[in-house]
Amino acid sequence: RSKSGGRRTVSFFNSAMMAETVARMELIAELRKAIEDQQFRLAYQPIVDISGRRRLAGFEALVRWQHPTRGVLGPSTFLNVATSAGLDGELCAFTIGAATRQMRAWLDDGLDPGYVAVNLSATELRDASVPARVVAALAANRLLPRHLEIEITENVVISQDPKIESNLEALHRLGVRIALDDFGTGYSSLAHLKRFPVDVLKIDQSFVRDMDTDPEDAVIARTIIRLAHSLDLTVVAEGIETEVQFAHLRRMGCDRGQGFLIAKPAMADQATEWLESRQRRVQGAM
Ligand code: C2E
Ligand code: MG
Ligand code: MG
Ligand code: MG
Repeated sequence: RSKSGGRRTVSFFNSAMMAETVARMELIAELRKAIEDQQFRLAYQPIVDISGRRRLAGFEALVRWQHPTRGVLGPSTFLNVATSAGLDGELCAFTIGAATRQMRAWLDDGLDPGYVAVNLSATELRDASVPARVVAALAANRLLPRHLEIEITENVVISQDPKIESNLEALHRLGVRIALDDFGTGYSSLAHLKRFPVDVLKIDQSFVRDMDTDPEDAVIARTIIRLAHSLDLTVVAEGIETEVQFAHLRRMGCDRGQGFLIAKPAMADQATEWLESRQRRVQGAM
């Protein structure tokens, strides 16, 4: 009995694994086609000063896949597979190209969102052509380095990859700011912070989410803000969903904030409308 049961188990796992492999291969094929057919888009989410006026500081660009049948897909559904399929170069070219073109379009329309922040993964940053690609994108769109920020996560920092380090150094030397995303969730130590050319710390949204109910999260947020300021870095809180969180972060001296409370990520058209209505309001107030 146990023998045949064992065999059935084995064949069950095989067919499940087979189905998973097939699904994965289909996804990779779809992703290749998505790049070819330009199905990727960027959504933009405002980052504002944590002050009464909530002045716009910049926009973070977040990739979306306008899938032909499944609707708009977020990065969690395809980013890992895209990376393992070696499609990082294409994705990186897309995000940097699209974000800088959009920034130029806004400036041409008399709208100035400040800067656009682009997320790059460790594999994307390993590519030696990244600094040249950034320089070319800035030049093609007549932008200054301060118009662009690169967001990296802590696993980029702990990878200790000399290629990544030299790319980040090159970008930083150009004047492109580097932000450390999801700060507090990984293993980055102060030593890493010192070694990397970081300009901005982004407090991970998990600490912001429970800040008002979990005193430990509030302490972590406060500690990150103090750390950032003692190192002369700008600190941004992610995932602000309530006025209470916003007010709390403001009291703690956090510089900037981002989250559904201010605005959800929106496609370029809607982000532009948001920008226009804000600009009108600010001018109206003056
Ligand atoms: P992230 O860079 O930390 O981006 C913040 C994520 O939190 C985004 O999810 C955003 O939609 C979401 N978010 C923003 N405000 C709130 C809020 O108030 N509440 C909640 N619950 N969520 C909020 P998204 O767009 O699904 O992106 C997930 C992650 O995927 C990003 O985390 C980033 O690490 C990665 N990613 C996004 N776009 C790109 C890209 O173009 N390239 C690469 N390599 N990675 C990207
Ligand atoms: Mg980010
Ligand atoms: Mg984050
Ligand atoms: Mg995140």
